Amino acid sequence: MFRAWIKNIIYAGYIDEDSAEVRKQIIISSLFSLTSFVLLIGYGIESITSNEMQLATVVLSAAIVSGGNYLFLCKTGNYNVSSLIILLLMTLLCLYLLCSGGSKNTGPLWLFVLPFLVFYILGLFRGFLFNSVLFVLVFYIFLYPNNSLLFTEYSVVFIQRFLGAFFSVFVLSIIYEYSREDGRRELLNLSRRLDYLSRKDELTGLSNRRDMFENLRNELGRLERSGKNFSVLIADIDNFKLINDTYGHECGDYCLKEIARVLSENTQKRDSVARWGGEEFLVFLPETSGTQAKITAERLRTAIENLTVNYKDSTVSTTASIGVAEYQPGQTLNALINLADKQLYLAKNKGRNRVEIAVPQS
Ligand code: GH3
Ligand code: MG
Ligand code: MG
Repeated sequence: MFRAWIKNIIYAGYIDEDSAEVRKQIIISSLFSLTSFVLLIGYGIESITSNEMQLATVVLSAAIVSGGNYLFLCKTGNYNVSSLIILLLMTLLCLYLLCSGGSKNTGPLWLFVLPFLVFYILGLFRGFLFNSVLFVLVFYIFLYPNNSLLFTEYSVVFIQRFLGAFFSVFVLSIIYEYSREDGRRELLNLSRRLDYLSRKDELTGLSNRRDMFENLRNELGRLERSGKNFSVLIADIDNFKLINDTYGHECGDYCLKEIARVLSENTQKRDSVARWGGEEFLVFLPETSGTQAKITAERLRTAIENLTVNYKDSTVSTTASIGVAEYQPGQTLNALINLADKQLYLAKNKGRNRVEIAVPQS
């Protein structure tokens, strides 16, 4: 309960946001706004008590902008604008503290926070540009003739040490952001590769059942909206167990690869072919009526019949039985696939190496 409450505050109410990158941006913006608000209020009160009224006014105004920015983020969820506001506010405040010296000349210390904040908000490339400009500006303010840009006095030793330390933080922040970005890119590539692999059948390189089912679900919505029809066919290799038993499992595997190639080569680009099970393939035919699908099925059946697989010393011939079904509006995907499956078993029962098509029920 308490954890959920804290999380809700940190996420500015956008706890259910799907993308990790968006959540990161929201957290950065909200945490920086909130912590600056609290810190600045504290420092503002301290400045009042030590009678530094100008500093107190600037710091308390910055606190109000910070708090307002958090409320803006909660209300709109616009983390882009909100993080730019906090970045600009912090930059101006840090430059003011540098020029004025802040409380007892400790103002420049706050600049050490900025390079990291800049990279968090702007990313590697834009962050590098922003930080470089910032670094040159700080250098310029310190080394401007007669200290005309400073309203306070720093010792030469302090300036030298400060610039050295600030430069080190600047370089460290670049290294940090670069390795973070590099790791993120590697992770993204890995997750893309895993996603690809989880959708492909390793043996044939075709889509697997999961990928095809998702594809069918998406296409069903798309085709239904546009009022176009589609069909599916399921092909099952005849007596495949016999091929395995006669020529060996390896030869069976090779036959499956060859059949997958033949199916892909004999379908159109818009069609998709998947390995649906062991020696079963499903072909999805968008914008295709049952009658057209039957013609495609016959073409595929003939192509498989004409295929001669040469594997080591063996020459293998195969045939397939195919069941076809045309989508009927309102039908579920499972019902459509079951219908094609039924026709497939009808083709098997009628002697194999043939095509059967479901007659639409009115
Ligand atoms: P039917 O004509 O009735 O379909 O007979 P079938 O022998 O093809 O059907 P059955 O279901 O009896 O056997 C399917 C065979 O397919 C058995 C199984 O070992 C084989 N099989 C399934 N997946 C693979 C695979 O990845 N590689 C190989 N080599 N064989 C497989
Ligand atoms: Mg089978
Ligand atoms: Mg079979």
